[in-house]
Amino acid sequence: MTRTYRWVLLTAVCGILATMACPAPAVAAEKINVLIVDGQNNHNWKATTPVLKKLLLKTGRFSVDVATTPGRGAKKEAWEAFRPNFAKYGVVLSNYTGTGWPKEVNEAFTQYMAKGGGLVFYHAAVFAFPRWKEWNQMMGMGWRGNGYGDRLTVDDAGEVVRTPKGKGPGGGHGPAHPFEMTVRDKDHAVMKGMPAKWMHVKDELYHGMRGPAKDIHILATAFSDKKKGGTGTNEPMVWTVPAGKGRVLVSLLGHDGGSISAPGAAAVLTRGVEWAATGKVTLPVPKDVSAAAETK
Ligand code: ZN
Repeated sequence: MTRTYRWVLLTAVCGILATMACPAPAVAAEKINVLIVDGQNNHNWKATTPVLKKLLLKTGRFSVDVATTPGRGAKKEAWEAFRPNFAKYGVVLSNYTGTGWPKEVNEAFTQYMAKGGGLVFYHAAVFAFPRWKEWNQMMGMGWRGNGYGDRLTVDDAGEVVRTPKGKGPGGGHGPAHPFEMTVRDKDHAVMKGMPAKWMHVKDELYHGMRGPAKDIHILATAFSDKKKGGTGTNEPMVWTVPAGKGRVLVSLLGHDGGSISAPGAAAVLTRGVEWAATGKVTLPVPKDVSAAAETK
C-alpha cells in the first residue's frame, strides 16, 4: 500500500467514524419567508388568513408574516402606516381585495416582482385592483365584467381557447358544489406527482375570468357544468404568469377555511407558494390527495 492509498483509506475510515460518532443533522432547507396580505375582502379574511398560515406552517418549509391593511374608508394617515417591506419576503400571498393601495406601495410591489419576487393569488384576491395595470398583467385574468379583457378556457381536446372581450360570460359562479379537478400540465413543478384528476370538496367554481390574459400557463381546470349554473366548458382553476424575473401563481380554490384545507386545494396552495418563491417544489404530494383521486 502506497502512502497515498494509506492516507485515503485512513481519511475514509476517520470520515465514517466521525459520521457514526456525531451524525450530522440533516441540513434543513432555509425557510421561505411568506407575507400574507389581508385587511379587506368580500370574503371572511379574518377566518381564512389563520387557516392559510396554518397550512403553510404545517409543511415546515415556511415562516409566515401577515400585513393587514387599514379597513375600508380609513383615512389617508392610516394608509401611511401600510408600507410592507416586500423585499424581505420570498413570496407574497394575497388574501386581499378592496381599496387600492397607496401609489408608493404599488410601485414598491411592482419593483419587487420585476426583481424576482413571488406572488400567489388566493380565491377572491382575483377581484382586486381592476385599475392597476401591472397587477392585472401579473394576474393574467380575474373576476371582471366580460368587456374587461379576454378569457381563456380549455376544450375537450385539451386546447386552450381564447374568447375576446365582449363575447361570452364575465366573472361568476353557480351554487357551490363538489367538482373534479383536471391537471393540464403534469410536468410542471406544482403539479408533478398530483393525480391527473382529483375530487375537490364543495366549493365555488369560478368562471368567465377576464384580463390581459398574456403568457398564462394553465395548470389545472374544472368542468363548469351548466346544470350547476356554469358555462359548459373547462374553466382554468390554477395558472401561472411570469412577471419580470418573478413568478405568479393563481389558485381560484377555497371559498372558506374548509375548502382551502381540502387535500388537493391545500397541496396546490402550499406547493404554489413554494414554486412562486423559488421556481422549484420540494414539498411532497400528501397521500390524501391521491386518496381523493381514488374515491372520486
Ligand atoms: Zn368565494
